[in-house]
Amino acid sequence: MQMQREQGIAFPPHLISLERIRELADIEETVDRSIRIGALTDLETCRTHSLIKRKCPVLGKAAGTIASPAVRNRGTLGGNILYGVGDAIPILLALDARLSWFCEGGIQSEPLAGFVDRKEAPEEGAILTDIIIPSPVKGRCFFHKVGRREAFIPSVVTVAMYVEVTGSNTVKMIRMAVGGGVNTPMRLKECEEMVSGKQLTDGFMSGLASRIKKESALIGDVFASADYRRTVAANLLVRELQSVL
Ligand SMILES: Cc1cc2nc3c(=O)[nH]c(=O)nc-3n(C[C@H](O)[C@H](O)[C@H](O)COP(=O)(O)OP(=O)(O)OC[C@H]3O[C@@H](n4cnc5c(N)ncnc54)[C@H](O)[C@@H]3O)c2cc1C
Repeated sequence: MQMQREQGIAFPPHLISLERIRELADIEETVDRSIRIGALTDLETCRTHSLIKRKCPVLGKAAGTIASPAVRNRGTLGGNILYGVGDAIPILLALDARLSWFCEGGIQSEPLAGFVDRKEAPEEGAILTDIIIPSPVKGRCFFHKVGRREAFIPSVVTVAMYVEVTGSNTVKMIRMAVGGGVNTPMRLKECEEMVSGKQLTDGFMSGLASRIKKESALIGDVFASADYRRTVAANLLVRELQSVL
């Protein structure tokens, strides 16, 4: 909102701070062992919290790639999601996260993918209260953000993956997501279907790379072309899958 104001976009005449609602800013393990993260939890807490470090370190890693320490101390995980192109979204999609919203009729829950498709809250004025990550996170998780320098930089490409593989290198379950720049992050559902139940072999991987390039509908801008973004996304995801072999 601060950036929008600096660009001359009208700032609302009144803002209501939710900062003192402590339940909206805590992280806990629920009775079904999921991880509940209050939407107002700041990104620095996501990066350093002991429960995240123990049960879902990849999310802490992703939070640590967002902006700078000063922004992470103020910016929240919920704000990053509602920003629409936040770098935390791909890994939350890969982890199959759910959102809880405080709506006029009560709490509504939905998969994060539902919000990402719609690009808006379920109703006007709805407040995002929680981000829920199913746990235990049994599979292997991967997150990588590519920027034009190491830190404090908008993403050119962000990729994330969750994969469970059996002893014979057969994929039991996989979720892949890509984003970056102005692109709304997306799951690669067709590629996931192509890989599920398959044995990972070198020949299979080269076919997968071209399918990822095709399905990841990343567009280009002044910083990077669409083709560059899609190629990087495909290379990163395939390289990670190859490391499972
Ligand atoms: C210098 C700078 C660098 C940045 N770098 C990055 C980066 O590298 N990667 C990245 O992903 N982002 C980046 N950002 C964007 C942004 O600051 C972060 O994504 C941050 O997480 C946003 O959180 P916030 O709490 O400040 O959200 P806000 O900007 O306050 O909120 C965003 C929108 O969501 C709404 N909103 C927020 N919380 C809720 C809620 N709980 N319920 C309903 N609506 C809500 C707000 O009203 C607003 O419309 C950067 C921002 C700055 C200023």
